[in-house]
Amino acid sequence: RARGGRDDRVTEVLAPQVPPKGAAGHKYDHGHALVLTGGFGRTGAARLAARAALRVGAGLVTLGAPGAAQMECAGQITALMLRRVEDGDDLSLLLDDGRLNALCIGPGLGLERARDLVPVALDADRATVLDADALTAFGEDADALFDLLHEGCVLTPHGGEFARLFPDLDDRLAAPPDTGPAFSRVDAAREAARRAGAVVLLKGPDTVIAEPDGHCAVHAGVGERAAPWLATAGAGDVLSGLIAGLMARGLAPFDAACSAAWLHVEAARAFGPGLIAEDLPEALPGVLRALY
Ligand code: AMP
Ligand code: MG
Repeated sequence: RARGGRDDRVTEVLAPQVPPKGAAGHKYDHGHALVLTGGFGRTGAARLAARAALRVGAGLVTLGAPGAAQMECAGQITALMLRRVEDGDDLSLLLDDGRLNALCIGPGLGLERARDLVPVALDADRATVLDADALTAFGEDADALFDLLHEGCVLTPHGGEFARLFPDLDDRLAAPPDTGPAFSRVDAAREAARRAGAVVLLKGPDTVIAEPDGHCAVHAGVGERAAPWLATAGAGDVLSGLIAGLMARGLAPFDAACSAAWLHVEAARAFGPGLIAEDLPEALPGVLRALY
């Protein structure tokens, strides 16, 4: 891949190379992901993400929840670890543990908590997925977010989150074709990744994944790749967890984002009609089994 210069190729997202677990490995060989939750009554999105990170093979997954939300988290998934993260100081202390190698921040987080925690999370320089409230919290001042991002980051906006961070690009996407040169979702994701200095995964029936250098991949949701049952609450949170889990396992941000997009669609297709977000992590073992 051409680095440094602009790379104009657009590749197709293909079946991923998710590494099988080596026979002699132990859990610490497969990474430790931290997923931050919102407050009481707002932990479901982060729990979906955490479950997806576990299912995709992260060795350990910890939920970072405020005190008031701990019982709500503890009763749900016994394989998850739970730590109290009330504020930025708690998060900073937790991240002193260098084994926490991937973060997922944003799903269900709440805007105030996002403004507190995102700078601390990004300062820790770990592979980091930013989604949902971590993006919306900076909708008014995207440059403040871009200043904090580093090359280990993946932003996963849906159309609305993208429009808040990149209103001018959204305007160009929405412009009628006769008002200027054609501007595609690939163009928009590429320009967004260049500005952010991070991988941008633009969600929708077609998923576009772009790197700052212009390298780009598309998962086109057409024909046998269509997965309309993914248009359901919580589906995006599962995708964020898959990316964080794969990065915990050592995949590079762009590769993790592409692989997660593919696995996400395959899990939805394997489950089929009636899918709700909870079903996606449960459908994943069958999808992974078919890869090995
Ligand atoms: P979110 O809006 O954050 O919950 O994310 C929704 C997820 O579902 C993203 O991964 C989208 O790519 C996916 N998705 C939403 N609608 C569709 C659709 N009609 N076909 C395929 N995937 C979709
Ligand atoms: Mg979402």
